[in-house]
Amino acid sequence: MIVCKICENKIIGRKGKIFCSIKCKNTYHVKLRRATRTAVKEIDVILHRNRSILLELMGKYKTQINVNRIELEKKKFNFKYHTHSNLNSKGKTYYYLYDFGWMMFSSDKVLIIRRIK
Ligand SMILES: [Zn+2]
Repeated sequence: MIVCKICENKIIGRKGKIFCSIKCKNTYHVKLRRATRTAVKEIDVILHRNRSILLELMGKYKTQINVNRIELEKKKFNFKYHTHSNLNSKGKTYYYLYDFGWMMFSSDKVLIIRRIK
């Protein structure tokens, strides 16, 4: 006998069903989303703060700037967290925060770029 993952009622109907009703299926997905939201919260805060720092430095219209690493550190930019990365043809790694990216230009200079859609 197969029982519902949520309410443990017996499942009637086609093979492979794991929920007894649409209501239980929805409950499951709400719980799943809630668990994910809780788990990612801390890192999301860091990612969003990092992006805000880059936006503040870049302003609305610039697409590329150079800043001193110390400037980013003073604003509590966290270099450990980014959304994705990309190795360019010259072997330099760009680290992205959504639509913004940065690259260590030298030991104390950071190149910040904005990805144009
Ligand atoms: Zn159920």
